[in-house]
Amino acid sequence: MTDRAALGGIVLRDLVKSYADADRPALDLPELTIPPGSFTVVVGPSGCGKSTALRLIAGLETPDAGHIAIDGADVTDLPPGRRDLSMVFQDFALYPHMTVAENVGFGLRIQARHDRRRGLTARITRTGRADAPAAASRAEIAESVRRACALVRLDGKEHRRPSQLSGGERQRVALARALVRGPSVLLLDEPLSALDAQLRHHARAELVRLHREFGCTAVLVTHDQLEALSMATHLVVLDGGRLSQAGSPQEVYSRPANTFVAGFLGSPAMNLQPVETIAEESATTAGVGLRAPGLQARLAGPAEPLPAGPVSLGWRPADGVPEAAPAGGFGSAAGGLTGAGLVVDGIVDIVEYTGDGRVVTCRSTVEGGSSWAVTVPAEGPFRAAGERVRVRVAAERLHLFGPDGRRVEHPESDGPDLRARDRADAGAEAERVAGQRLGAADQVRA
Ligand code: ADP
Repeated sequence: MTDRAALGGIVLRDLVKSYADADRPALDLPELTIPPGSFTVVVGPSGCGKSTALRLIAGLETPDAGHIAIDGADVTDLPPGRRDLSMVFQDFALYPHMTVAENVGFGLRIQARHDRRRGLTARITRTGRADAPAAASRAEIAESVRRACALVRLDGKEHRRPSQLSGGERQRVALARALVRGPSVLLLDEPLSALDAQLRHHARAELVRLHREFGCTAVLVTHDQLEALSMATHLVVLDGGRLSQAGSPQEVYSRPANTFVAGFLGSPAMNLQPVETIAEESATTAGVGLRAPGLQARLAGPAEPLPAGPVSLGWRPADGVPEAAPAGGFGSAAGGLTGAGLVVDGIVDIVEYTGDGRVVTCRSTVEGGSSWAVTVPAEGPFRAAGERVRVRVAAERLHLFGPDGRRVEHPESDGPDLRARDRADAGAEAERVAGQRLGAADQVRA
């Protein structure tokens, strides 16, 4: 394993997993690091390998090749029970005939019975052989269960059965059952998908709070990009079994590494349009011109040479500034561009009211032009199909992608400051979480 494994967290290296009859591996990850203490969300469309990744970390699947390390120890060949992790499944998998307390304490009771029968004096863990505590007594198990229930705010409901609980409470029972052993890694497989929309929003916040208090390394998989952006301290985007991008949610959202990530994260989706590049000839306007039917843009130039082939330009609907009556009137969008940035003309096609605003989808004014969307306030112009709109986008909000779909930086890209700030935030967060972990995890284990 690499030296990075010694840094802690979870490191996946050269990991490959294929299922029979598939034309490509379900997962193929040369290297992926999940930072210690992070709340890492693995996101991607259905079938991209998210659950496979989680099941490999848990030890429920065996990789065809590669290694998995947790907190510096290679666990590739260890069974799930020796990896010091807990998993919460999509359907919670509670025993319907047991109370909350019995469900939460089930694993501890089985472990204690097992320890008593075998008279264990030592236990093999992923870090080696450790003195085993004497099998936990009933009173000790009851105390651990009480603490875990209090952590997920289920105190007072320990005697209810799952059928007497709301969906959100059932989810918290599953969490308490996972946390009662004080694992250093918590794996969550779409744990919110069984909840209705309102409850899901509340449960997201609860999970984030719980992670903050408990402080373990958490890995959650979801296909919901909004859930991913709102919960993650570290985001991993998978596409077709491969890593598309990893980083802080802010970094991945503001600087998508390729057109897949650009189109997948964000709602409404980023406008992505094929454009033609034109070298600017005037001595006073150095840079690169970009053109498509009904659209013109200008950048100070790509930071690296653009490979030959079609280039795509992206902008988020929220970054467009619409004008209902541009100075000089409508006409060629080219005429509307004076400095760097983008200007595009369109005709309102669909208006979707979202409560706090509207998403206005426009078709091009020009034959062959792409349609695009812009978000506008709930009140104001752009209400009816057929209205003319001109939109401007600042150069620093434009995303440029090369013929292979990869991001190409340009001098105005929103970036370096944000990246430095994200790294500082992530470092401070990891330290804070590591400190809290010592407190909360030991309390539950006690
Ligand atoms: P996700 O969780 O992102 O929806 P999965 O990890 O479940 O994706 O699946 C990745 C790919 O592997 C899919 O093409 C899926 O059909 C396939 N797959 C997953 N589990 C199995 C299995 N047990 N047997 C065969 N194919 C599987």
